[in-house]
Amino acid sequence: MTDSAPSHLALATIAVAAGRPPRVEGGPVNVPPVLTSTYVSTTAPGPGDLFYGRNDNETWRALESALAALEGAAQPAVAFASGMAAVAAALALVPRGGRVVMPQHSYGVVLGLAAELAAAGDIRLSLVDIADTAAVVAALSRAPAAPGAPGEPAGPGVPDEDPAALLWLETPTNPMLEVADTPVLAAAAHARGALVVADNTFATPLAARPLTQGADVVVHSVTKYLAGHSDVIFGAALTNDEAVRTRLCSHRTVHGAIPGPFEAWLVLRGLRTLALRVERSQANAAELARRLSTHPAVVEVRHPSLPTDPGHERAARLMTGFGSIIGLRPAGGAAGADAVVSRVRLWLPATSLGGVGSSLERRRRLAIESPTVPDDLLRLSVGIEDVEDLWRDLDQALRG
Ligand SMILES: *Cc1c(COP(=O)(O)O)cnc(C)c1O
Repeated sequence: MTDSAPSHLALATIAVAAGRPPRVEGGPVNVPPVLTSTYVSTTAPGPGDLFYGRNDNETWRALESALAALEGAAQPAVAFASGMAAVAAALALVPRGGRVVMPQHSYGVVLGLAAELAAAGDIRLSLVDIADTAAVVAALSRAPAAPGAPGEPAGPGVPDEDPAALLWLETPTNPMLEVADTPVLAAAAHARGALVVADNTFATPLAARPLTQGADVVVHSVTKYLAGHSDVIFGAALTNDEAVRTRLCSHRTVHGAIPGPFEAWLVLRGLRTLALRVERSQANAAELARRLSTHPAVVEVRHPSLPTDPGHERAARLMTGFGSIIGLRPAGGAAGADAVVSRVRLWLPATSLGGVGSSLERRRRLAIESPTVPDDLLRLSVGIEDVEDLWRDLDQALRG
């Protein structure tokens, strides 16, 4: 249907060129939104035939091939109605009762879904500090001891009592920006037969490509950087494994969390500028983090670009960018943080992230946020505006 960009091209070029329609004289240069619920069909549909709009759509296909080219996936992406729909399909790969090892600071709604599945007996859940590689490897072999019970020593020679079925990775984590050692953790998970799923929303393929570091499945909240303009909710899952892709597609078809063709077109339009947006927002974020780290009204700033940041060394080694999310604890506790949010004029006080416009929010105002996230933590999503304008607005809001 569409030509996929050859893999020798740079990612910035792939973002522009992948998923275009075939070159035919007089043909369009973009795949249009194909607004149809069904397709003409008189015989039994074969594999790959367009048949019904809940199963497949030409506009999905263009986007799915572009996302696969960006993530380096051997199979087209599977587009979903939201990031959470993609997450739900990935968690459904776990066999009933299988144990899932997950970062304690995963995106709050992902933790909420995992807790719901655990309460229903569909999965068992082990929450870990994903930056603590030894603790994650130990949790892949056996369920952590119940609180208060004597812990078992981790390390070589201790048998696998309860090998995990799935390792969930989110790196850097939302909103604590912990960085995981993806290749080491993926190898440890595979040695125990566990599947590895990486939520690559924060990094984007420009800063990390988990499928090339051992992940079996990548999920995205496409809503964020990939779409990039805060105007669409969308998700995607990617894998190299045809059988896994078939299961993800089947989950989408039978549960029905399908994206609209227009939304797919909008995402592909946004994707064309991904590299420019990410380069600018990452540069802005690094500069703001540097200035914030000496600001008198700041208690703590987290961004993997800072040489003093706990995630810096690992991010510098494993990633090709430091991302555009900053964790900021202003002076004055939660009230001080709320005051900053109320005083900004250019920054948008709003949830979500990854849009062209900079936004910020105090995460713990939300009931879904983990209690281990500091009450005064502001999550800043840095956009593509002029960095001096962003700094002036933030500085006046911090000074009050
Ligand atoms: C926003 C987000 C999600 C959920 O995606 P939606 O598109 O809002 O459904 C999942 N993971 C991460 C890391 C996110 O930031």
